[in-house]
Amino acid sequence: MYQIPKAYEPGKIEQKWYDFWLKQGYFTPKINPGKKPFVIIMPPPNVTGELHLGHALTATLEDIMVRWHRMRGEPTLWLPGADHAGIATQVVVEQQLARQGQTKEKIGRERFTELIWEWANKKREDVRRQHQLLGASCDWSREKFTLDEGPSRAVRTAFVRLYNKGLIYRGERMINWCPRCRTAISDLEVEHKDIVGHLYYIRYPVAQGKGFVTVATTRPETFLGDTAVAVNPEDSRYKKLIGKSVILPIIDREIPVIADEAVDTSFGTGALKITPAHDPTDFEVAQRHNLPLVDIMNPDATMNENAGPYEGLERFACRDKVLADLKDRNLLEKIEPYSHSVGHCERCQTMIEPRVSLQWFVRTEPLAKPAIQAVREGRIRIIPERFTKTYFYWMENIKDWCISRQLWWGHRIPVWYCQQCSKVTASVDEPAACSHCGSRQITQDTDVLDTWFSSALWTHSTLGWPEDTEDLRYFYPTSVMETGYDILFFWVARMIMMGLEDMGEVPFHTVYLHGLIRDERGEKMSKLRGNVINPSEVIDKYGVDALRFALTTGTSPGNDINLGKSKLESSRNFVNKLWNAARFIFQSLDAEGLGKEAMEVAAQSIEDKWIDSQLNRLIKDVNRLLEEFQFGEAEQEIYDFIWSKFCDWYIEIAKIRLRNRSNPSPLPFLANTLEKSLRLLHPFMPFVTEELWQALKQRLPNSGRMPSSLMIASYPVTDEEAFAPEAERVMDSVIEIVRSIRNVRAEYKVEPNKWIEARVYADELRSGLLAQARIMEILARARPLAVLSRAERQPDKGKAVIMVLKDAEVVVPLAGVVDWRAEKQRLIKESDEIKARIAQIEARLRDVAFLSKAPAQVVEKEKEKLSILEDKLDRLQQELSQLTSSSSDA
Ligand SMILES: [Zn+2]
Ligand SMILES: [Zn+2]
Repeated sequence: MYQIPKAYEPGKIEQKWYDFWLKQGYFTPKINPGKKPFVIIMPPPNVTGELHLGHALTATLEDIMVRWHRMRGEPTLWLPGADHAGIATQVVVEQQLARQGQTKEKIGRERFTELIWEWANKKREDVRRQHQLLGASCDWSREKFTLDEGPSRAVRTAFVRLYNKGLIYRGERMINWCPRCRTAISDLEVEHKDIVGHLYYIRYPVAQGKGFVTVATTRPETFLGDTAVAVNPEDSRYKKLIGKSVILPIIDREIPVIADEAVDTSFGTGALKITPAHDPTDFEVAQRHNLPLVDIMNPDATMNENAGPYEGLERFACRDKVLADLKDRNLLEKIEPYSHSVGHCERCQTMIEPRVSLQWFVRTEPLAKPAIQAVREGRIRIIPERFTKTYFYWMENIKDWCISRQLWWGHRIPVWYCQQCSKVTASVDEPAACSHCGSRQITQDTDVLDTWFSSALWTHSTLGWPEDTEDLRYFYPTSVMETGYDILFFWVARMIMMGLEDMGEVPFHTVYLHGLIRDERGEKMSKLRGNVINPSEVIDKYGVDALRFALTTGTSPGNDINLGKSKLESSRNFVNKLWNAARFIFQSLDAEGLGKEAMEVAAQSIEDKWIDSQLNRLIKDVNRLLEEFQFGEAEQEIYDFIWSKFCDWYIEIAKIRLRNRSNPSPLPFLANTLEKSLRLLHPFMPFVTEELWQALKQRLPNSGRMPSSLMIASYPVTDEEAFAPEAERVMDSVIEIVRSIRNVRAEYKVEPNKWIEARVYADELRSGLLAQARIMEILARARPLAVLSRAERQPDKGKAVIMVLKDAEVVVPLAGVVDWRAEKQRLIKESDEIKARIAQIEARLRDVAFLSKAPAQVVEKEKEKLSILEDKLDRLQQELSQLTSSSSDA
């Protein structure tokens, strides 16, 4: 018989079971057209770096769902993959080159791409290994990479289809430009930092007249690209200047003064310099007023020929020079300190330059409409629901999507330019000639696509689209998209748009959004704060199961998660508790043996009926909670059941019964409860449950009919026949009585080995409690423990502790130990508390608003609580009056 080691050592079992599952092919679903599959496409991690806790959370939540559905017998696919991550990866490899004194330009595009491929392949290996470490039960035989042949063909196909429909165009628009990476980047890749800078007041002389118009700016060097000064039409200070011109100093260019209602009269002087080529707001103003654009910078943020005498200067050197020159001419009115938010490139920390640039764009509005509709009509449900509002807001205000990047790493834009007729040929396969004039002198666009373009196709490109594959027919639409709420727009919304566009059907039915992971005090984890938790270190120290449990217990969708040492420790303690309980059960089974008949015996004793009833209620709750995506709550309930009801009570009682060789034996219920608990817990803690389940299986008489692994065993279903309210009421009372006596022992510091006496008074539950008297004696170390009817009650003569419980009163006579005055005070305090609670509930039940809004069962529950409290108060008052009368003669 396989003996599990005394102490739980996670490292020893994790690898073993993962290899076993993998070898058995459990992760690969069998396509069965008669059954509806459950499908999750994994958000592909970037091939840039190490696994962090966010990945561990994603993997754990998805694995929970996937393992649960698989155990319910659904063909379950969890498709893993990795993302080439465009700029993020390119910058990492560039930085490596820089350390060797190299640049990508020096080694050329081909060699550079080769180097990134080497890096990416290595990192993909890491991503795979790290997910396997976490127990992720994904189908590695279907693993995809965004740059694989299939997904790449999907990217070109989607591009060409959109292009042919007129939904992709090339144009000059305002974009975020990184002068170091020398590419357009998305809003998500811009980090905003608060900078203490200055507000510079510059004088522009009025043309054909006297005086100046003073404008305020944080970036004086951009005046070289100004094409107007704008004022608010209602601003009396400037009314007479509207329609006139001012002269840009130094370069002596004349620009108009225009009126625009968007100008904020309270900012600076109320006169705004308009630099359409270098500011997004100014760009919009320019569009409204048909103003020309003057681009003053090169791609590397040095000044170009439009900057006149400043040509060739770097942007900040230019600023210094411009300020000095303005000062010389007495055109710098004043400088004020000014804090403002400035965008930086997330990858290289260079200050972003908003810039008008020739790029490719997706016309998103026609794609957004059906995507809004799909959520509005409930074809896609977003959990938690509050993010639906955010989704609608974004989608209803969507802007065209800049999809071209001036990078070398990514999907090359499938567009060829003709040198003969200068027209554009968009094609999935490399064309031999221009599709317009037939010329062979064509060259492909050198840019690549935004990395989110391929991500947007991920739900269908991974299943084979544009080919009509069996996978695509069976697994699309997928079931759940699980990801962080921070990329709802950048990724989820675009998948919805592209899924509907390419497939004509939503890509998934449910979006589940998880929160961010913070430290114990709720602070964001960052290297700077030094509070980052490294998953591999946690796994080494606590084991994967404990990490998974700590990450997901007691959390709810969309809310941030606080994780620290105490949560990890308590998760590990839970694994240890389960391990020790299982070891005790294995030893008992080995000592006594378990016949086939024994397993089929119906519960006879109250505690057997109780644990079985509680287990079945748990099964019902857990299935419901998993159905509702309340994973954290489901885990909490399993935890409470195993830790308290099963280990602290049932097993402790079973130990007494086993010692006394009582009949019936608790063994079948020990084995059965453990077996079902392991199945319930498996999706959350796959490794320890498999290890214990395999060891238990060997000891069960029906092991031959059991599956070869817990991960393909069926998930428990409720047997409502097992519900036993009477047994539950008795056991609730037993637990309450034992706890109350233990509390007395603790409060009066009774030595652990000393037996004390106790009397329990009850009417309705008396016979049930009587049957548990011997067990209560041992658990509370109270002997004799008499269970009496209330009619048998004798005065306590003031030397006893009295406890009024839900269904019983407990009297613990502690002659010489108890201070009756203190005891009286305690009872008065308790009845005051109960009075306050009664008043609260009565007020609620008088509240018309509450009564009209609350469901009937909630009102019923309040009434029930009230009657329990009233009954308790009644009995407390009786005890008090007894105490007063008996103590007065003491
Ligand atoms: Zn950059
Ligand atoms: Zn041509």
